[in-house]
Amino acid sequence: MSTDRVLARVRKVVGTAGLERLGPGGTRSTLRALLFDGAGVPAWHQAAACRDLGSEAFFVDSAPDANLRVQAAKRVCRGCPVRTACLADVMAWERPSRRYGVVGGLSPVERQRLHLRMREA
Ligand code: SF4
Repeated sequence: MSTDRVLARVRKVVGTAGLERLGPGGTRSTLRALLFDGAGVPAWHQAAACRDLGSEAFFVDSAPDANLRVQAAKRVCRGCPVRTACLADVMAWERPSRRYGVVGGLSPVERQRLHLRMREA
């Protein structure tokens, strides 16, 4: 199932406004909750720097100005007090073939490299 279809399904469940308020960390956690282990949005997300930002600021893979927007998203993550928890969370459940957007301060390619390093260690 494509990410767009999954997001459309989630929007039906939580509503567009609710999803946009979650930010990327919350969106990932919500998807995880819906698709995998049924856990709710983790408590650390309350302190996330992206909590009140729209998830579109972090999921910019195909935008014409994607590189600038990725750098802007990474700046938000650099100042985030829960970055370690966010990155650990996404690395724990994200499928290597399905990495999208900036999460935990890393792009999909950077998370894939981290995944490979973790697997080697
Ligand atoms: S590290 Fe980035 S994506 Fe994760 S919660 Fe913080 S701001 Fe959001």
